Amino acid sequence: MASRLEERIIEKAKELGADLVGIASIEPLKDSPSHYLLSTVGRKIDGIGGDSGSDDPQQVQWPTGARTALIIAVAHPKAKPELDWSHSRKTSTFRGNSPGNKMLITINKELSAWIERTEGINTHPLSYSTEEGGIYFKDAAVLAGLGCIGKNNLLITPEYGPRVRLRGMLLEAELETTGTIDYDPFKDCMEYCRRACPQEAFNGAVSLPKEIEVLNPPARDAFYRRSRCMVQMYADWKLGQPANNKTTGGMDKDKVQNTETILVKYCRQCELACPEGNPGV
Ligand code: SF4
Repeated sequence: MASRLEERIIEKAKELGADLVGIASIEPLKDSPSHYLLSTVGRKIDGIGGDSGSDDPQQVQWPTGARTALIIAVAHPKAKPELDWSHSRKTSTFRGNSPGNKMLITINKELSAWIERTEGINTHPLSYSTEEGGIYFKDAAVLAGLGCIGKNNLLITPEYGPRVRLRGMLLEAELETTGTIDYDPFKDCMEYCRRACPQEAFNGAVSLPKEIEVLNPPARDAFYRRSRCMVQMYADWKLGQPANNKTTGGMDKDKVQNTETILVKYCRQCELACPEGNPGV
């Protein structure tokens, strides 16, 4: 049973807009599958680098004094695809962020300020990318009891399936964790996610160094080729870019770049094909 401090923080996060909230201790998190892979294999997996394509092997920098990870999830329902559409950087309301990401950043920021002000605990709101000071949120979410990792290499939650977006912060206080959950819906899994992928990213195992024992490979059995998914991401991105002085829709590039133009609609097929979670989301 969480103590009152933990309950207050979770309640506040939900009041600010989080759909799911969990707390994990950072010591086991440092050894979680993705952090372990980074420390042994580095960022370069399947021949390419991490979040931004960088293969900089720099490790996660855990702030001194941080003891606990607080993870929030916001549902991304099928009916609201626009939540992760990227917008023009120049004048967009979202300034390069998707509406969903902007929402997560705002909740995280307001929650951090509230925890510092009300509970007197120092916080470290985190970037999404480990290359910009973040941690692996999926791993933290599993340790905090939000769900488990699916065959699509995404976090699967009982409430929303894989249709969630994550954010988090580190706290300079030892909080009671919300623990892991006994949830693993893959006994009868039909692998809809794997069959839905337009790039066949799940048709072969990624090669990991034989000399390293990887106990928890990506997508549970290593059948996830990040490079193939990135081909799709690049195609999605290219589709939204103005060519020469014209957009793909024939509009003037300068005009487009100074308006609220949607640039990228990401694939999500492996996410949307998963039947887990409430069918309404
Ligand atoms: S996002 Fe699309 S391309 Fe990437 S793994 Fe999922 S289904 Fe395949």
